[in-house]
Amino acid sequence: MAKIEFKNVRHAYPHPSDQEPVYALKEVDQVWEDGGAYALLGPSGCGKTTLLNIISGLLEPSEGRILFDGHDITHLPTSERNIAQVFQFPVVYDTMTVYDNLAFPLRNRGTAEPVVRERVQQIAEMLDLGASLQNRASGLTADGKQKISLGRGLVREDVNAILFDEPLTVIDPHLKWQLRSKLKQLHQQIGVTMIYVTHDQVEALTFADKVVVMFDGTVVQVGTPVELFNHPNHTFVGYFIGSPGMNVLPCTLDDGQPVFHNHLLSTTYPARADLEGKLEVGVRPEFVRFAEEGIPVEIEKIEDLGRYQVVTALHEAEKIKMVVSEDERIPSESPKISFDPEFTRIYHNDWFVGGQAS
Ligand code: ADP
Ligand code: MG
Repeated sequence: MAKIEFKNVRHAYPHPSDQEPVYALKEVDQVWEDGGAYALLGPSGCGKTTLLNIISGLLEPSEGRILFDGHDITHLPTSERNIAQVFQFPVVYDTMTVYDNLAFPLRNRGTAEPVVRERVQQIAEMLDLGASLQNRASGLTADGKQKISLGRGLVREDVNAILFDEPLTVIDPHLKWQLRSKLKQLHQQIGVTMIYVTHDQVEALTFADKVVVMFDGTVVQVGTPVELFNHPNHTFVGYFIGSPGMNVLPCTLDDGQPVFHNHLLSTTYPARADLEGKLEVGVRPEFVRFAEEGIPVEIEKIEDLGRYQVVTALHEAEKIKMVVSEDERIPSESPKISFDPEFTRIYHNDWFVGGQAS
């Protein structure tokens, strides 16, 4: 097992030579602690697979260095990195049995057959493949094949890290839930560093101790699910995590406090007074409430979601979403709303700048 570090890593794919390079990874400085369960969360195209392939050595970055336990392995081939990688689509040997597929990574490393047998049995049991061990892999459904792929990723105990690249994409929803819990359990048992790539926040938040949020080729925030929810450092984190996402509204500043359409708001984390550029105030729907004093709004829509209601309020054509409890009465006459100062956050060019008042 190893601590993995990225130092100023950037990557551009080859392109027609008359163009400026386009960086799929713009600048990544990141430490993956030994034994951590990480999710790498971000929309399609933000660079997740590129980052995984740089860890495993399938790609050499255009710039920067990769360290395993402090040793520079940037130029080391895949075979010498001791990384298991599970891809988005199944990689199995159709002509081999399920057993031989699972045994392959172990035999490849010269593991003794009795140990192979024991590990294959364990993994097969965990993935409910026990009954089909002697069947040829070619006869299996897409689900079954992807389980083999997962098994091949998990079968070795001596790896530096296991990387999963959206491994449950082709798996049906019920089984998906089961496998995800099993992976989490397995992490707790064996303690190998796991990096699990997904574009699904629920998947990320249930699997990981730490979620690494990526956007447009950069890591915008690393945190526990609670940290990302309560303290989004970038508007993208606010918007991508949570349902509905954070309200992001245009603002100006008055002595470091946000002003939204002439309404002075209050935040526990004021900003420096002299910022130029795009200024916004962010507040999650959970931290907006109806109040005696506050911003006057019109109610545009109320959605009853059972345990709570999502209210869409309007002020000067700006939509503000609110999450209120199922039994809360929505005021019908001149409603006003206010934001909880502890969770009202100022963003400058999309980055949180609160707590920097001088
Ligand atoms: P993700 O896994 O988050 O969907 P990728 O790492 O696959 O993102 O891709 C990041 C960016 O790099 C995308 O814009 C994608 O089009 C581009 N890209 C990925 N692979 C290649 C490649 N082999 N050649 C050229 N561009 C690529
Ligand atoms: Mg990908």
